[in-house]
Order: sequence, then C-alpha cells, then structure tokens
Amino acid sequence: MKLACVEILRSLVSFPTVSRDSNRPLIDWVRNYLADLRIESHLVPNADGTKANLFATVGPSAPDGLVLSGHTDVVPVDDQKWSSDPFQLTARGARLQGRGAADMKGFIAAVLARIPDWSRARLRRPMHLLLSYDEEIGCLGVSSMISAASESLHQPAAVIVGEPTGMRLATQHKGVCVAATKVTGISGHSSLTHRGESAVMLAGELIAHLREISDKLASQGPAGARAFDPPYTTVSVNRISGGTAVNVTAALCEFVWDIRPLPGADSGAIVSALAAHGEHLLAQLARQGKRCEIETTVLADAPALRAEKDGRAAELVRAVTERHETDIAVPFGTEAGYFQQAGWSTVVCGPGNIEQAHRPDEFIERSQLEECETFLDRLIHRHLA
Ligand SMILES: [Zn+2]
Repeated sequence: MKLACVEILRSLVSFPTVSRDSNRPLIDWVRNYLADLRIESHLVPNADGTKANLFATVGPSAPDGLVLSGHTDVVPVDDQKWSSDPFQLTARGARLQGRGAADMKGFIAAVLARIPDWSRARLRRPMHLLLSYDEEIGCLGVSSMISAASESLHQPAAVIVGEPTGMRLATQHKGVCVAATKVTGISGHSSLTHRGESAVMLAGELIAHLREISDKLASQGPAGARAFDPPYTTVSVNRISGGTAVNVTAALCEFVWDIRPLPGADSGAIVSALAAHGEHLLAQLARQGKRCEIETTVLADAPALRAEKDGRAAELVRAVTERHETDIAVPFGTEAGYFQQAGWSTVVCGPGNIEQAHRPDEFIERSQLEECETFLDRLIHRHLA
C-alpha cells in the first residue's frame, strides 16, 4: 500500500495525540503501515503502557545510517477558537489545517510517504525512523527511546529532527528547563504578621531574585550568542498560585518558572542560585523563630543544541539542500539536544513554520511538504543508496 504524504498526514492528524492522552492508536497505525512494508517496529512504552516511542529501520543493520526523528504528541486545543475540527485535516487552498500539521506530523508524514520507495531501493546504509511521545511537556519520552535505540542500532552518522524550520538548517537552539518552587509559610490572622509568615510574600522575594538574575543575564550575553533572539539566557516566572483569603497569612504559594539556557549555559547554576537565596531568607526567618520551607523541583531540563564543529549532520544536509542560506539558530527547544548528548551528530530541519505551531488553525503549506519529500529523497539517495 502506498499512500501520498497528504493522506498520511490526514491519518496522523486524526489521532488526537495531545500529550496528556495516549499516543498508542497513532503508534499502532504507524506500526501497521510499516508492517505492510515488511518493516519491523520496536516500541518503547512508558511505565503504564499508555504511550510509546517507536523506532524502525529501513535497510541493512549497519553503522553510519541516518536517523529521522519526530515527536508524535501535540499541544491541546482547549480554549482555542478553530475554524475547523482540529483533528480533521482541512484543506484551505495551499494550506492544510489541523493540530500538529506543522508541529510536527507534517515531517513524520513526509518520511512515511517516502519509506516504500526507500525500502525497495536496497539501501547500503540504514535509515532509522524514531518517533517519541511527550515532547511537548518537557521531552519526557525521548530519553528511553535513545537508550533502547543505542543498544540495538549501530551508531548512526547523523540525526535530523524535523521540527518546523521552513526547511532551513538549524544547527543550534536553546535548552528548556522548567522548575516549580513551593513555598510554605505560616498561616495565621493577617493582623499578626509577627507570628505568621505569608508564603506569597516570601515567594515574591524569590521571584524578585529571579528578576535580578534575568536582568543580569540580559546585560551580559556572550558575544557568540548573536545567532539567537534574544542573544542571552532568559528566566521567567509564568504561573503562580497561593493563599486562601486576604486576612490570612498565606500558608502556601507555588510558582512555576522557565529557563531558556544558551548552548553551554548552566541552568542548574540558576536553580542553585535561587536555592541559595531561599536558604538566606529562611535563615533570617529562623532568627525570628519562624520555620518556613522552600522547595524547588526541576520538572524538565531539555539540553540545548550546540553548533557542532564540522558536524556530520549539518554537512549532509548542506550537500543536498538547494538553499544556500546561513545556518540558523531556532528559539524553541527540541529533542535534538538529547540526541547530541548521546554522541550523535544532530541538526533540526523540517517543513512548516514554528509560528503556526500551538496556535488555533495551525497549518502547513503543501509546498513545504513537497520540499521536505524532495529533500529527504536526495538525502537518502546521496548518503544511503
Ligand atoms: Zn514540536
């Protein structure tokens, strides 16, 4: 059975693989599609089996292959106004609209559409398809897939993560670190602040400290970071909850914050800096006989992608691309940093525009899918055939 890219995309979009829900129906669909082509899939499920990564190889079991990778989950459509059913691919002229069309089922569809031809082509070196779950909620799935794939596959020459770059070659991106800080104060009547301690106010001091760190980073971005916008590591606090009533000193306050470290920057140092400031505040309170608590948990810490010196992945992409633009740095995080950490040369290059991602009426242009298919064909034929 050979399906056109758009038909495959239609099927992929029809599975509502929002990260909080199962991606298994989509994974099973891909597994069946590959099984029809006599390609075996390996699943790496999560703990309760509701989600799975998938990897599969086209061509021989050999080193120096090419990994094409994407995540299968999508962001929710809650509270978004769509002009069509988000889980039904809808054609609007040159655009194909649907949740995940750009981020990043379009890339997966393009790879799957080309696989029948590649499997007939008797490749000399392998193409490995790697599909993950839970990318959108902190790249939680990809690590177990990389471990499993590293054990059973030969070392590949390069990895291409097909997040939407408009088919431009992206050789670097920032990391994404998400942390939650829980502050426990002392509840009491708000007129007796010498006995109680408002967790909200304590949280406010911590947040002010993060603002200081953020301002300092902005004023001293390293010169090498010019490819990024903005050219420095950012820190921001974007969700907070706490307190019960205006006349009760707040017993609890929790805020969630975000660090986007430049390649080479240390997000752990920022988490430690906040912890140190917290210790300082707690010691001051202890001298007043007040026992409060501050606890920070790192919820996700996806590494940055750094530009590789003489990187194989970038070299392979450049050799087949018609575009002769300079490499770009993308502002968003991807799973690429994990592949690079595993010792695999990695870049990001895929169809669609990141500005469409996560929005209502997300779309991909047909021409982007076509460009991606042509690009992949050239890549496979030049490097693997
Ligand atoms: Zn994505």
